[in-house]
Amino acid sequence: MVVSDASTSAATAAPAVAAERLRITEIFHSIQGEADAIGWPTVFVRLTGCPLRCVWCDTTYSFHGGEWRGIDDILAEVASYGARHVCVTGGEPLAQKRCLTLLQRLCDADHEVSLETSGALDVAAVDPRVRKVMDLKAPDSGESARNLWSNLDHLLPHDQVKIVIASRADYEWARGVVAEHAIDRRCMVLFSPVWGKVAPRELAEWIIADRLPVRFQLQLHKLLWNDAPGR
Ligand code: SF4
Repeated sequence: MVVSDASTSAATAAPAVAAERLRITEIFHSIQGEADAIGWPTVFVRLTGCPLRCVWCDTTYSFHGGEWRGIDDILAEVASYGARHVCVTGGEPLAQKRCLTLLQRLCDADHEVSLETSGALDVAAVDPRVRKVMDLKAPDSGESARNLWSNLDHLLPHDQVKIVIASRADYEWARGVVAEHAIDRRCMVLFSPVWGKVAPRELAEWIIADRLPVRFQLQLHKLLWNDAPGR
């Protein structure tokens, strides 16, 4: 009887332990390089894996590898940096279902939490305290068919939609979807040039000429550290 009870509790305990783990590429402390929280000292938690393959992806090193880590362990490392801002990124963090628990736990620990997500996976269950920074993929990314348009209905005023622009055609597509879906009335919209594809000044001038209700942004971490991993 005792043996039976022990094996039953072991069997139920094992999945609970597994449920608390996530595959992590890196955790590091840096300056937030983009979006609304730009400039804040921030701890980045980069989850491993992404189901997309954007042609200009700058974090391909996060597609594979990584290390399984418990959520308590992740929270302890985040806390060790003493930063209020935490950004959960990837890869595509929502590709790991337990990311939702991590986000919740980070909010419970009183962090200002942001989530960088591709826009291809459902964001409906993300804790409403989290600021979502959600991409919409323009055609030159090669992944625009993956945009999950129903996600627009789950955006909150503190969220942000980011469109990365690699050409004039991308810009015109972005201008069209912002108008068609009135995205600027839901939340902040960010237009960002692909490094080496569109001159930043050119994109800024297109936005001014068309008087678009969007915010131009350059990725600060690229200017400061040329996009080195861990920065
Ligand atoms: S969604 Fe992000 S991580 Fe995934 S391929 Fe595109 S840019 Fe890279």
